[in-house]
Amino acid sequence: MKYSIRIVFTLFAVILSLVKGFAYDWPLVNGQIQHQINSTFGECRGERAYFHNGVDIQASQGTAVVAIESDTAYILSGSVGVNIGHYRYYHLANLTIQNLQMVQAGTIIGYTNADNHIHFIESNQSVDFYGNVPNEYCVNPLRNGALTPFIDAGAPEIDSITIYRQGTNDVVQPGTIYGQLDFAVQAHDPGVAADGTINNQSACGVYNISIEFRDSTDNLIGQAISYLIFDNIPDNGDINWAFATGSNSSTFVYWATNDPFNEPYNKYWNTRQRENSNYNVDARYPGEALYGDGAIRIRVIVEDIAGNTDMVDLSP
Ligand SMILES: [Zn+2]
Repeated sequence: MKYSIRIVFTLFAVILSLVKGFAYDWPLVNGQIQHQINSTFGECRGERAYFHNGVDIQASQGTAVVAIESDTAYILSGSVGVNIGHYRYYHLANLTIQNLQMVQAGTIIGYTNADNHIHFIESNQSVDFYGNVPNEYCVNPLRNGALTPFIDAGAPEIDSITIYRQGTNDVVQPGTIYGQLDFAVQAHDPGVAADGTINNQSACGVYNISIEFRDSTDNLIGQAISYLIFDNIPDNGDINWAFATGSNSSTFVYWATNDPFNEPYNKYWNTRQRENSNYNVDARYPGEALYGDGAIRIRVIVEDIAGNTDMVDLSP
């Protein structure tokens, strides 16, 4: 009887660890408590130069950085960065490990430098090289079941929405829409303090931008457009499909109607889309159009990775 209870408990512990998946501590001393997030995954960097391929975790200079996973250490960029297994840590100084050393999880690998944060990258495969981690490997370390604990009580905000005639700089007013249209949505998410409240030091990128369409009785028409979801990041060469002019490292203007993850990247919303067809197939006569010109209610929704949202309804 005692044995069977022990077996049940062991099985329960194994199952629990499997359910927990790949959740891991924060890569700092006091790793079992949340730390402040200053930048999120997928943000624009430079003048639309590249995607931010990790998260920035606040850590004042001299904070001990701790390895999440046991594996061989690859020391990068003149000792500023270290890769161990699936994880990469940047803005370090005073490393306590050697290049190619086998490092155990939980070991202090060095200390933060005067940048006062670590740029933390998670890869979907173990990395055993010195070069950049390809964008296609990078995953969002703030997803549920990764960096743990993570509480985020602050909601993202939509700053502005501009509708353009597809492929032009012509601005279209929401009440007079027809044809093929591009939506530029400027939005941000407040940074997340260590206690889960808002840290206003930095504007972060949002996780997901989507657009819904509704008829005059508020019924959803067609499928919401939701191309930009930062579980992954597109290739840096496709950043202009994700971010519009005016975007930089602290201002994020998203092309909500483009899909930088899948060709064709230059998609659009089409009021004249034929029912039961793709967005790029026009109705042959007005009655066949899924949306129709004019009186469409448009709802723009942005979401952070914790599920907090902001939405703006554009009434015709
Ligand atoms: Zn960073």
